[in-house]
Amino acid sequence: MSDKPVPTPSEDTGRFWDACNDGRFVVQRCTDCGTELFYPAAACPNCWNTDFDDVELNGNGTVESFTVVHRAPTDAFEGETPYVVALVTMGTENDVTVMANVLANPGDVSVGDSVTMTWEERNGQQLYQFELAE
Ligand SMILES: [Zn+2]
Repeated sequence: MSDKPVPTPSEDTGRFWDACNDGRFVVQRCTDCGTELFYPAAACPNCWNTDFDDVELNGNGTVESFTVVHRAPTDAFEGETPYVVALVTMGTENDVTVMANVLANPGDVSVGDSVTMTWEERNGQQLYQFELAE
């Protein structure tokens, strides 16, 4: 059992985390104005509509920015530093931006790199991460 943090699904986020457990990364698309949301939310921040369609993304994205973590935030991450945390723009109508690890040597990651989603199982929950695309 990992000591690393695991999300606690809520009424608003349960569908998202269930989809992750099926290997699918889904965002919400407002049925009224089309705004795509990530992270999951109860209401559209643009029009306050509470009805959404699920939109599955293909997992491909582009590194918009990143940092290299050298100091472990908790003991559970000791031995994993240095590692990359990036903002990745996923290719959708509205460009959803996702923060996650890029599983690569920090020196190999650059802004503009193409990445693809990969999954890590942690205490029964699939968590999204990225790796450099070939
Ligand atoms: Zn809306």
